[in-house]
Amino acid sequence: MSTFKETGLLPEILEAIEALGFENPTPIQEKVIPALINSTSDLIALAQTGTGKTAAFGLPIINQIDMQIREVQALVLCPTRELCMQITKDLESFSTKMRGFKTVAVYGGSSITTQLRDLKSGCQIVVGTPGRTLDLIKRKALKINTIKFLVLDEADEMLNMGFQEDLDAILQSSPDTKQVLLFSATMPKEIQRIAKKYMKDAVEISVGKRNAGADNVSHEYFTVNGRDRYAALKRIADVNPNIYGIVFCRTRMETKEVADKLISDGYNADALHGDLSQAQRDQVMGRFRSKNLQLLVATDVAARGLDVNELTHVINYNLPDDLEAYVHRSGRTGRAGKTGVSILIIHSRESKKIKELQQMTGKTFTKKMVPGGKEICEKQLFNLIDKFENIDINDAQIESFMPDIYKKLDWLSREDLIKRIVSVEFNRFVSYYQDAPDLNLTRTESSDSSDSREQRRQRGTTFSRFFINLGLRDNVNVSTLIGYLNRNLKGQKIEIGKVEIMKKFSFFEMDKIYEDEVLAAFKNADFDDKEVVIELSKPEPVGAKKFQDEPTDRRKRYNNESSSKESRFKDKKKFGARSYRN
Ligand code: AMP
Repeated sequence: MSTFKETGLLPEILEAIEALGFENPTPIQEKVIPALINSTSDLIALAQTGTGKTAAFGLPIINQIDMQIREVQALVLCPTRELCMQITKDLESFSTKMRGFKTVAVYGGSSITTQLRDLKSGCQIVVGTPGRTLDLIKRKALKINTIKFLVLDEADEMLNMGFQEDLDAILQSSPDTKQVLLFSATMPKEIQRIAKKYMKDAVEISVGKRNAGADNVSHEYFTVNGRDRYAALKRIADVNPNIYGIVFCRTRMETKEVADKLISDGYNADALHGDLSQAQRDQVMGRFRSKNLQLLVATDVAARGLDVNELTHVINYNLPDDLEAYVHRSGRTGRAGKTGVSILIIHSRESKKIKELQQMTGKTFTKKMVPGGKEICEKQLFNLIDKFENIDINDAQIESFMPDIYKKLDWLSREDLIKRIVSVEFNRFVSYYQDAPDLNLTRTESSDSSDSREQRRQRGTTFSRFFINLGLRDNVNVSTLIGYLNRNLKGQKIEIGKVEIMKKFSFFEMDKIYEDEVLAAFKNADFDDKEVVIELSKPEPVGAKKFQDEPTDRRKRYNNESSSKESRFKDKKKFGARSYRN
């Protein structure tokens, strides 16, 4: 392994990073720093967050900045405001010994006036989100004709967030002489397009495999029924009393629901999602960073740019639609030389996805059993004992109370006393988990795919029946409806049972295990610009044929109602059907 000295960095920079406690370069730094100091070639680096990539580009750029000139010499583009602030903070900490050096951060959702003023007073590096950066270039407040370096950090995330056009515009308006440095955790086609269009003979640097996860992260999965996801999450949290992690959900609604349940069940958790104001987001992130929160329930988008090094766990409450996002999620733990665990809670049909993930990352995913009550209680008990052993005793504060306390407990033996103290906390878990069921899917539960559809249907309990407000008048027939369902379920192979198409609405059956997934997949869905409503229907009544032929109250009601959203919701209440909570 090389040292920072050997990479050719200036003494002022070496001094600053020594003060930060950086002893040796990380693998990405070992490769990128000399490449940037000794060559003017463009560079593509495949690297996750947490690998030290900010220093990998930041240190050699600062090394080559002319401090005498107060014009922009490097532009760093990144996907989020949080990452923007983090990179700026890092660059400032690398340059504490460089006189005259200034970095300005520009990002949306914040006053442009301050950013205009900062830019006007001059700086050598600008770190920005693409939208705000382009805005400032158009206003001629940010001049990038002098830049020597253009960094695209988390390029794949910038494209995922829809910044492609902004990036194209910025790249086109920058000078040809610049060196482009592209950092990305994954290499989708669009990134390759950018590289081809805007980079010349780029040197490709990769630490680890393409799309691979970080090395010090272990991957574990738990297979449960869809409806037991939340219970499994709680057990995972309970068996890891010192957990400090992010729980990733697929939608804002799911994020809110899971966080609300955790809070009301007494966990130290909160939600981070796009419906929060910037101030609320900052507050939640602040609490999480300072470890006042143990579990942060978040969507992928909301958690972008959240830079926390000591996460013990990342929990995939639901797998992301795009499996590459898993690499980003799991890369949030196991950072800066620490180890971490990435947990997936899946149902039996998702085993295929585990195989895909194994292939994509080249990592082993270990199947784990959801812990039972005994295991959890044991873990909690010994955690409590550890706490007793290691607690700091504030003698000065409690001294005056001790004589009375000793007197009061005098009649108890040492053993009795210990038992009582332990029970104060422990009883809660023992009573909760007393009759806790086994959440692991049994062989029969998970391997019933060999059943024929008819066998499953006849069993009567395997399918759930759903109502959908699309029918013949919407040009829907059985095959268009099945196609529509499959499209919205985005590759989740859920067995469809009986389908009944009527004039204005239809019924279809789907594997009961996936009730929640089906309802969630059609939230905010539309069909030919019509808002689609799907809800759980009561089981098919005996004499279903009669139901089809003779309009019931339910059909009458639906047919007569206006189609406003509000009235449909009223309708749902009247039907007594369970709709997915908003
Ligand atoms: P990054 O991937 O840039 O987000 O960096 C992840 C974390 O690793 C940051 O907190 C850095 O301060 C830290 N870090 C970066 N390089 C080193 C290094 N060479 N030695 C120790 N820590 C580092």
